[in-house]
Amino acid sequence: MSYLSLQDISKHYPGKKKNALQDFSLTVEKGEFIAIVGPSGSGKSTLLNILTGFEAPTTGSVILADRNITKDAPKDRDMALVFQEYALFPHMTVAQNITFGMKIRKTAKKERQEKLDWVTKELGLTEVLDVLPKNLSGGQRQRVSLARAIVRDPKLFLMDEPLSNLDAKLRDQVGDLILTTHKKLQATTLFVTHSQEEAMSLADRIIVLNDGVIQQIGTPQAVYEKPKNRFVAEFIGRPAINMFSFTNLPPALQQQFLQEKDKLAAIRSEHIHIREEKHKESNQSDPVETGIVTEVRYYGGNSILQLDWQQTKLFVQTTQNPPALGATVLFTFDSQHLLFFDK
Ligand code: ADP
Repeated sequence: MSYLSLQDISKHYPGKKKNALQDFSLTVEKGEFIAIVGPSGSGKSTLLNILTGFEAPTTGSVILADRNITKDAPKDRDMALVFQEYALFPHMTVAQNITFGMKIRKTAKKERQEKLDWVTKELGLTEVLDVLPKNLSGGQRQRVSLARAIVRDPKLFLMDEPLSNLDAKLRDQVGDLILTTHKKLQATTLFVTHSQEEAMSLADRIIVLNDGVIQQIGTPQAVYEKPKNRFVAEFIGRPAINMFSFTNLPPALQQQFLQEKDKLAAIRSEHIHIREEKHKESNQSDPVETGIVTEVRYYGGNSILQLDWQQTKLFVQTTQNPPALGATVLFTFDSQHLLFFDK
């Protein structure tokens, strides 16, 4: 029996045509880190609210640690939430914020102190124990809210866009911290985000949601390399996957993939290879295409080029010296990595 099981959950809000969630089923093992990713309006908050108990599902059930908690009140669910807004008590110090919940639950003073000492050391908060939230940085506030969740020792951690108020550097730092504490505690975590980058870099498994319907559940590699449909292919990965008409493909590749002729062809930017002129004839089996460079983004170790090719734009990643704007470049498709999707 899995640790958390969501069974056929649907949610209908009055007055809405479409269900906010439709037949959502998921099983999670203890210790897993799951990211739920999808665009705005895809049902992420609805799912969190059903998990926490702030909303009841229209149909379906939630089983946590062998207990059906579908109808339990939020306070009886033993879950800890970390939000985008830190939701700290403004008049309490860091130490008071972290221990408040334990006080309410009448945890013994000695244990409270031990947990406070441990968690603040782990999260680098020992210097700010007596500071009020308003005098903390965003990263510190988010660490306090994480600390408060951790000392609860909950059955489930729910995180709702916890990194989205932080700048890029802090996002990485707090993200790392969330991962290391997750592993140390062997916690089971559901992490909701609109950011595919966060989902890809943090999660054991990703659930891609669109319009309340699960599009794919899989490891970051699986959703990236073997997206189940066009939505997943386009939502996951930056730069966006290249997607174009089948008839744009070189004739030899059209021949090779003839059974896909009614679909769209797709390929990720790293599977298009820039060719130097002198190698043009080296491998006859790979048809060589020609494109004009319309944009160059240099990132240090690699560059992302945009090429004009057959009236479409192609993103191409290269580790070579980037060509000049307006240059004509030769390239090949790595046909092993071509994907095909229904239109
Ligand atoms: P996300 O968190 O991914 O942005 P939501 O779960 O907030 O998505 O919304 C999913 C759908 O449910 C949307 O169409 C939204 O308008 C609708 N919805 C969410 N909450 C309510 C509500 N309380 N009443 C009516 N419709 C809602």
